Amino acid sequence: MSTVIAVTGADLALPALDQYTPSALVLPAPAEQPLEQALAETSAVLEAIGHLVVLVPASLSREHRLRLHSVRSILESDRIALVEVDLPPLALALLAMQLRQISQYDLGSGVIASGARLLTHYLYTGAVLGSVAKLDRVAVGLRSHLKSWVPGVQFAVLANPNPHLVEIGDAARLPGPSYPTYLAVAAAPTIGDEWVRGRLVRDWNCQYLHEFPLPADSARWWGTAKLTEFAAYIPDVGVLYQLVSSVYRHQCRWCGRERLGERCEFCETAAQESEAGNRAHVVGVTQPESKAHHRAG
Ligand SMILES: [Zn+2]
Repeated sequence: MSTVIAVTGADLALPALDQYTPSALVLPAPAEQPLEQALAETSAVLEAIGHLVVLVPASLSREHRLRLHSVRSILESDRIALVEVDLPPLALALLAMQLRQISQYDLGSGVIASGARLLTHYLYTGAVLGSVAKLDRVAVGLRSHLKSWVPGVQFAVLANPNPHLVEIGDAARLPGPSYPTYLAVAAAPTIGDEWVRGRLVRDWNCQYLHEFPLPADSARWWGTAKLTEFAAYIPDVGVLYQLVSSVYRHQCRWCGRERLGERCEFCETAAQESEAGNRAHVVGVTQPESKAHHRAG
């Protein structure tokens, strides 16, 4: 293992699914952790393991983002990748979990960092909301906007991979994954999760339902405290490994690391013109198939 995954809040570091899953480093907001402690913990990880991949939520505060950049520049480290992820909090925590799962394989730090973008495509994530009046991260039609002022009306919203919004009723359906998944659910006490537990689990054919506490940032992300967040995810590490390892790899001209797709997450350079010939092989989304395991020794 050469790479540790870091998240920006303790509630984004989900409990490990099995004894093989490495834990995550937590780099909380400046108000919650002195800079010296963040530097000490980060440099200890770099020294012991080698590389750090930090998942940076697109909705992260300016101060918190500055803190991450400070840590990287003070440590003068080209072994820290700050990977921007635009997912709701529960899905981001699951993505971090999946990267932790594949980090036990010998894939290389550049491939694991760019694997974040690839695996995001396989997370079907959304929420049931009591109001969409303040939802600004998913496009909302004017009619839904007006309806959200009517008491008792609820909406089912898909944020990723493709935005979709329906009003909850007998005919309400959300497009879901076409491969085996588990469903993660995190509900606020102010709203029921019956629709997710019933309709959605059946429609999406999820094999297992896993409950989590609602992440602290979820209400801000969705624009309401009346929410049940959900995410369908691939639980099988063999399938995740296969998805990541089957994509064509480029070698970064600057740092020499292998990566998937156009962008090196460590030195933040995009593919050079001379690599244009390989662009037919950029990250592609395929259907997961077998469950072959290749656990690294
Ligand atoms: Zn590079």
